[in-house]
Amino acid sequence: MEPIRPEVDAFVLDWLQREPLLRSYFFEERDGNCRLTSSFASKLSETAPMWARLVAPVAEWFTQQIHKSRTSQSRSRLPVQLTPATRQEKKVTSNVERELSFRRANVCVSCGKKIHSRSTNCDECAKEKRPERMIEVARLGRVVTLLPEAQAKRSATQKVNTQAVWDWNPTDYPTWLTSDLYSAKIQPRLVSLSCSSVAKRLGVSVSYADQIRKGRVPHPRHWQTLAKLVGWSRNSKPCCRNR
Ligand SMILES: [Zn+2]
Repeated sequence: MEPIRPEVDAFVLDWLQREPLLRSYFFEERDGNCRLTSSFASKLSETAPMWARLVAPVAEWFTQQIHKSRTSQSRSRLPVQLTPATRQEKKVTSNVERELSFRRANVCVSCGKKIHSRSTNCDECAKEKRPERMIEVARLGRVVTLLPEAQAKRSATQKVNTQAVWDWNPTDYPTWLTSDLYSAKIQPRLVSLSCSSVAKRLGVSVSYADQIRKGRVPHPRHWQTLAKLVGWSRNSKPCCRNR
């Protein structure tokens, strides 16, 4: 087996990366030695045809060398045919993995239970891991918001908003659009809109848009845009103050 040791190691490492080994594959003897159970040995023996094909050229070469040394005058070759002689046979052998009857079981990476789907965990383990995953996602979210790029972006947005408040002139806006009217007629209609549509029209973050939808009163400069967004108009009243 030594000439094909790299192939065997690659096979084992690849297998270990894909799935955990089952506890039932091993048992420990009284002296502490760890042994393979017969069921696991039987499973592993299914890989024998693959190793046989890989080791065949080496075995064949070795046999021919012995044969040659014994009959140094003769150029005859032993009629050994361990390796495929025809192109057709070579083609079939080239993909030993495909031919291999050995199939790795699809098991949960946490508990080793057999699973049918392509997921990495069984249902029970996935359920247990969900809170852990949420905590990790939240942690990553916090890390991202502290990055210099995110802080620079927040600072730029803050500047734009401050400037907009400075530039805002109440006389440019309709007189009928009062705080009471906003609370009574416009705000209740905002809940039917999506956060993203509100955010896009106002040029604010989705989380701030969500707060506005849920009742936070935005700066008055946003009221007219929100009135249009919910389809509210007061045509009977003058829409603008005389300038
Ligand atoms: Zn599991």
